This record gives sequence, structure tokens and C-alpha cells, in this order.
Amino acid sequence: MTTLCWIQTGACGGDSLAILSAQSPSFEQLLANNGIELLWHPSLSHRPMRHHDELLERIENGEQRLDILCIEGSIVTAPRGTGLYDSYRGRAKMALVRNLAARAGVVVAMGTCAAFGGVHAAPPNPSDCTGLQFDRTQPGGLLDAEWRSQRDLPVVNVAGCPAHPHAMTQTLACLAAGLPLQLDELNRPVMHFSTVVHQGCTRNEYHEYDIEEHQPGGRACLFFNLGCQGPLTQAVCNSDLWNGVGSKTRAGVPCFGCTSPDFPHDNDLFRTEKIGEVPLRLPLGVERPRYMAYKNLARAAAPARVREKKMEP
Ligand code: SF4
Repeated sequence: MTTLCWIQTGACGGDSLAILSAQSPSFEQLLANNGIELLWHPSLSHRPMRHHDELLERIENGEQRLDILCIEGSIVTAPRGTGLYDSYRGRAKMALVRNLAARAGVVVAMGTCAAFGGVHAAPPNPSDCTGLQFDRTQPGGLLDAEWRSQRDLPVVNVAGCPAHPHAMTQTLACLAAGLPLQLDELNRPVMHFSTVVHQGCTRNEYHEYDIEEHQPGGRACLFFNLGCQGPLTQAVCNSDLWNGVGSKTRAGVPCFGCTSPDFPHDNDLFRTEKIGEVPLRLPLGVERPRYMAYKNLARAAAPARVREKKMEP
């Protein structure tokens, strides 16, 4: 059996909710088909807290093997580096997580808060939050950048706010099976973070022809005015739909870039910052001079079909 323990730190519980909607595999299938013993989950375990306390003690003593440690939430280090703003039975969770991580075969950061600090670490960051092995974009968080688990892996960052259900269950399935897991430069599994949200978006054609929305609720692209980060956010939201049916952009909401280490940006999430007519943040790999030339041509070349489609009810 592979043992798995899930601990929440500074979190809203969104990743726990999201993983329950996974379908391929579902959370139940993940446990049953991969021989995973769920030692503890704060929302799903029904045993008394006494069991939880004994379990943590046994893991820290080395009496209980811990193969996979999942952390959900930012690491709170305030006040003054003690971490006591987020404590359990008088002990800083920060210290508990550090001890458990030292015993774990592999540590998985579930969600952007655990990976990079996320919402709680956004300026002015009053509780001095950080991620497990990154502090927003900077390597090194609770654990330093060179830290490695018992299986010689850095913290595996399944980023997202919340993390995509299949990014979570499929990453855990790979780890439980002992399969090699290729990570990107932010220690995110490449298989879930090598495409951008823009890929698979139903508004793509409007993007190509620079047909823009100015108000929510329309059909056209949300990149130019309404803050969409889809072309520069690595995630599978539009290629592996949530609950098999939806994504933010399909619901008319711009992508907020929640898998990125600098999420959330310190600006209006529903407005595109621009220099003149051109967005400040361009699609990944696109150069500004070329983009400006292209943009000027694209709108003029838009077929009537595309322009008219925008007008359809
Ligand atoms: S709405 Fe966002 S993800 Fe969709 S096409 Fe426009 S920029 Fe790309």
C-alpha cells in the first residue's frame, strides 16, 4: 500500500472540493486502483482527532511510513517568523509541515497557495505567507530551493486556484505507481502544465482576428479588454474541461492566470492593462513589435462571418 496524508494549512479548502469532482480517475478510483491508503484527510476522514494526533506523532517518530504528503494552503509564517497565526494544539503548522516533509517519500503542493503562496501571499501579505518551496516567483519558501524528499524529488507543484481535479488525481496516480514525473522549471508536472488555457478555448477565432469584447457576456475574446490571461497561463482548463463540460472562458469569465507563481496580480482581474492599444502582457513567446504589426492587420482581415457571429444572440 502507498500511504497518503493530506494536511491543510492557510487554505479555503477549494482543492479538497475540486478533487471530489475528478472523473478520470475519480478520487475513489485513485485510492482503490492504485493501492493508496488514505491515512488522513481533514474533510474526508471520520476518525476522532485523537487518531489524527497519534498518526502525526507516529509519522514524525518514523513509526508510520508516509509515502505521499499533500499540503493544501499557504504556509503562514507570521508573527515574526513563528508561524503561530496558523497553529494546531498550540504548535505552528509551519513546524509540523517541515517535520512531516522530512519523513515523506514525496511532497505534493495541492494548489497555488501551497506551491507559491497564492492569494494569501499577495501584497501586502499581512500573515507573511509563502509557498512550500517557492515564495511567489522566487525559489525557496518554507523549504529551501535545494530541498529534496526521500524519493529525491522537489515539492511537486500542482498549481491552480483551485488545482485542476485531474492534475491532482493523475499526478497522485503516477507517484503511487512509481512512474517518472517530468517537472517544469516551477516544479509543476509537465503533462498538466505544458499547454496554455488559450488552447481549446471556444473564443480562439475571435482572438486571432482581434475581435474584442468590452463587456462580460459576449462571444468574442476576453484578452484585449477584460483581463483574460489564457494565452500566457499554463493549464489544461480548456483541453480537459472541468466536470467534463466547462471552463472559466466557456462561462464568459476571463482566465485569471491562477496556475502562475505571481497569481493573483495586484490589479483589476477584469481589465487588461495596456500600453496604448496593446496589452502589457502578451501571449507566451510573442514579441511586442511583431504583435503590434500583426494586430493592425488581423482586425482588418476578419471575415464577415466572424464579425457577424459576434452579433448573433
Ligand atoms: S478568451 Fe482568453 S483563452 Fe479564450 S481565446 Fe480569448 S485570450 Fe484565449
